[in-house]
Amino acid sequence: MSMNHKRVLIVGGVAGGASCAARLRRLDEKAEIVVFEKGPYPSFANCGLPYYVGDAILDEAKLLVATPNLFRTRFNIEVRTEHEVVGIHREEGKIEVKDLRRGSVYQEAYDALVLSPGAVPVRPPLPGIDLAGVFTLRTIPDSRAIREWIQGSDAKRAVIVGGGFIGLEMAENLTRRGLNVTIAEMLDQVMPPLDHEMAEYVYMHLQDNHVSIHLGDAIARFEGTDGRVTSVLTQSRARLQADLAILSVGVKPETKLAKDAELEIGPRGGIRVDESMRTSDPSIWAVGDAVEVMDAVTGEFCLVPLAGPANRQARIAADAICGRTARFRGVQATAVCGVFGLTVAMTGVSEKRLLQAKNTDYESIYLHPTDHASYYPGAKVMHLKLMFRRSDGLVLGAQAVGEQGVERRIDVISFAIQKGSTVFDLEEAELCYAPQFGMAKDPVNLAGMVAANVVRGDVSLAKWSDLPDCGAFLLDVREEEESRRGSIDGAINIPLDQLRQRLGELPRNRPIWVSCAGGHRSYYAVRILQQHGFDASNLSGGYNTWEVWYPEGLPSGETGESGEHPSRSRAA
Ligand code: FAD
Repeated sequence: MSMNHKRVLIVGGVAGGASCAARLRRLDEKAEIVVFEKGPYPSFANCGLPYYVGDAILDEAKLLVATPNLFRTRFNIEVRTEHEVVGIHREEGKIEVKDLRRGSVYQEAYDALVLSPGAVPVRPPLPGIDLAGVFTLRTIPDSRAIREWIQGSDAKRAVIVGGGFIGLEMAENLTRRGLNVTIAEMLDQVMPPLDHEMAEYVYMHLQDNHVSIHLGDAIARFEGTDGRVTSVLTQSRARLQADLAILSVGVKPETKLAKDAELEIGPRGGIRVDESMRTSDPSIWAVGDAVEVMDAVTGEFCLVPLAGPANRQARIAADAICGRTARFRGVQATAVCGVFGLTVAMTGVSEKRLLQAKNTDYESIYLHPTDHASYYPGAKVMHLKLMFRRSDGLVLGAQAVGEQGVERRIDVISFAIQKGSTVFDLEEAELCYAPQFGMAKDPVNLAGMVAANVVRGDVSLAKWSDLPDCGAFLLDVREEEESRRGSIDGAINIPLDQLRQRLGELPRNRPIWVSCAGGHRSYYAVRILQQHGFDASNLSGGYNTWEVWYPEGLPSGETGESGEHPSRSRAA
């Protein structure tokens, strides 16, 4: 590699590719940098596409973050759009490029090559998938095609296959366009990265916003007439009417070039890179959705197709190419999604992943604080779940759902996880506060306090999953009036303020599982009971958590298996 005039070629000109190119230029004014992008635009805002479909973004040009002209004039970077890299000749240090406008093929030599080819939407080989009106969403032309289809076909009903991030964003945006939307999801919950009960808040919110949801049933085929989609048939033979179908069942890393060039591919199907984003070839780096990276919490390789990691990895690859020491510290899947005014955010591991990994050294707690002081107008409840290591309180993951202030709390916890913090650190975290913004005990502090009580042994937790066959005495310490409005099946109400006088009504030969509305009063009650010699545990999050764990009540006559949620009945 000539140290003075490095020639760096970059495959893919959007999130990772564009970011890497710009960083390279800042570090090396002399390098020759050429970006190859097979699509018509470099550096466009993929994340904004659902909102363009939904008319929240009206001007398509706003999706173009930087043009080839800007790359040339400001960064002295050449961007060749509609140029597809079709091969890598590693031994010669060359790539083969196809000019898609002219059809010609040519070669270019590199000192360093960066692959940022992204991912491709999964298209299961189902009958009818090629019918007109069945779309995926990845590029500006995809979003334009969906817009034109809605206008041109007077579409009224849309089926979204897959209830993850893009599926939910599309549900909101197509509803905004006036379509009747059904989400069809193979799993028994929407938003698969969330734990089942946290996804229940999202489910209810979607229903409140008139989205039909069909769970636990995979798609069998797309049906149509005259080559156009008219319905989607599920494996249970439900027929969902559709003038338009959006496939949002995930993405897979774009690895064709890397595979053809015999670069190492990891077990998750992504390009294998080291900490400086270098592939198995020392002259080739790879970043973004195409690579697999280390999960910083579990230590396992994983695929996290998100823009934040792609941009950070791109900077690290640029640093490494320029001889700097740079290390990507892994991902923890910190993500956020907005749907009909609800914010859904998460970081680190979910409880279901802990269960899958047969990890037994953890606890999870729930709380339902307001985003800011409840006396100040406009406060909204958020639902927060925290996972931590039982033995030492290390923070492992968090999920939150609510209308305000959700992403801020998850960001704080995300950073805590990155720094290896414990629940005691969350308890002590100094966060900004004024009544309109937060609480003197911020939700993050509260989560730390609740969890720290568990780690210190001040309170023991009862498991919601064990409720159906727990054999415990269920004590509800809310006020009578609250309890009359709805209560946990089988719970006996003794308001907290009467508890000391009514201890004689409680059994001493059975565990007592205590609940209230959100977990606060029940904590007081558990402390009282424990000090009076009772075997008492807290049902974390109280009635508010019960409503999402058992939305249809306890399974009658049967008992749930430990750790599993009762599935929602399928409905569309
Ligand atoms: P991309 O940004 O996809 O860029 C890859 C580019 O490489 C493509 O333009 C492709 O045409 C080009 N390419 C591929 N092969 C070749 C080749 N052989 N030759 C030349 N060019 C090639 N992430 C978030 O964090 N938050 C969000 O809210 C969010 N919303 C999203 C919404 C949508 C609809 C989509 C599709 C994605 C969203 N993402 C979001 C994900 C995020 O956009 C990606 O993680 C990120 O763009 C990945 O960057 P990348 O550089 O790896 O791939």
